[in-house]
Amino acid sequence: MNDDLIKKMANLLLSKAKMLEIHCPTCKIPLFEKDGKIFCPSCNYVFNQETKVEEQREKHVEKEVVVSLEPLDVLTMKEKELFEKLKREKNLKRIILILKALKLIKELKG
Ligand SMILES: [Zn+2]
Repeated sequence: MNDDLIKKMANLLLSKAKMLEIHCPTCKIPLFEKDGKIFCPSCNYVFNQETKVEEQREKHVEKEVVVSLEPLDVLTMKEKELFEKLKREKNLKRIILILKALKLIKELKG
């Protein structure tokens, strides 16, 4: 860290910029926040908060995939859903479709 950078960071702090716990991926120095913008005082890298939110969302989706059901559980679940549908269904064509689907599930489950 050179003197210019230290001076710059000191000036930023004096101008009410906030030093954050997030570090610049390039310079490994703390990022600053001012006027809702997060940036690196050294390389002027701008931290995109939206990207971070997006990443977190993706991680969340991954977690859901990890706790995915066993194939047999999925079939049982679908079977239940179809039975529920069948109870309410009045359309003959759709009733036949549901029954066919249920037959297939039964076959798959063995
Ligand atoms: Zn930087």
